[in-house]
Amino acid sequence: MRERINTFNLYLRRRYGCRVQRVPVNLGLGCPHREGRTGRGGCIYCDETGSGVLPADIPVEEQVKRGIAFAERRYGARLFMVYFQAFCNTYAEPERLDELYRRALFDERVVGVIVGTRPDLLPGQVVEVLKGLSERYEVWVELGLQSSHFRTLRLINRGHGVSHFVDATLRLKAAGIKVCAHVILGLPGEDTEDMMETALFLSALPVDGVKIHCLHVLKGTPLEEMYRRGEVRLFEMEEYVDVCVSFLERLRADVVVQRLTGEAPPERLVAPLWCLEKARVINAIRMRLEEVDTHQGRKCPFSQPPFCANLSPA
Ligand code: SF4
Repeated sequence: MRERINTFNLYLRRRYGCRVQRVPVNLGLGCPHREGRTGRGGCIYCDETGSGVLPADIPVEEQVKRGIAFAERRYGARLFMVYFQAFCNTYAEPERLDELYRRALFDERVVGVIVGTRPDLLPGQVVEVLKGLSERYEVWVELGLQSSHFRTLRLINRGHGVSHFVDATLRLKAAGIKVCAHVILGLPGEDTEDMMETALFLSALPVDGVKIHCLHVLKGTPLEEMYRRGEVRLFEMEEYVDVCVSFLERLRADVVVQRLTGEAPPERLVAPLWCLEKARVINAIRMRLEEVDTHQGRKCPFSQPPFCANLSPA
């Protein structure tokens, strides 16, 4: 089967010549948005774990050691990227962040650092800290955007604007840091055209990567209340596959697609339950690309590499 998506695995193999495994680390820094600094109550889909799976009370060094040992055993990985995933990993004084990040980087097989955060939480001094790390490591910052439409950001209570994302992206890129945007497909109030515009918006910016998620409802969130009141309609799997393929077609061919569907622990997921079958969803997206003989970037009108060697020409 020809490659039709510029995946993170392809990117890493091209760059490092082998598998590079992400090692998640929970710094336990929390989120200012959940604490009321930028809004009230956090994003409507976020539960109390903030996408983190590891307990933050385990020392950073120990989390990295365990993560590397697991990735070696399970995947035979030889190189690693430390992934600060849960909540907002730039939510501390720059000096403290620098210390925390560097404590996680003791193993010489670590080649990269991934920092997840909000686009309105990147003051200049924090960007300088990240720039310092980028002298030795490949540094990615994952920014939650979710949608390029302000009315949607307001509805899902993101607490920041589209402008914050543009500002953060441009400043990070100027500092030599790679940017990966998180996007949710199927947000309330959005139609297919809205989601396609988000793909084009990202393609028009110097964004390096995208993580695509399907809207899912977690227990104990405001979104669950909306869902139970019948205010939110969720995608069937086939619908998601179609929208995702159209989204990929409008995404620049050189943007690294780091995720095609989100994950949720079964005990916290309310709906849709097909989200639990991640491999099936990814396979269905790949099959659909084959069926309609298309690929990432095919409908992107913005400047792209003349030919992305790993993607099929139309
Ligand atoms: S910014 Fe992230 S951690 Fe904070 S409420 Fe939103 S999704 Fe949750």
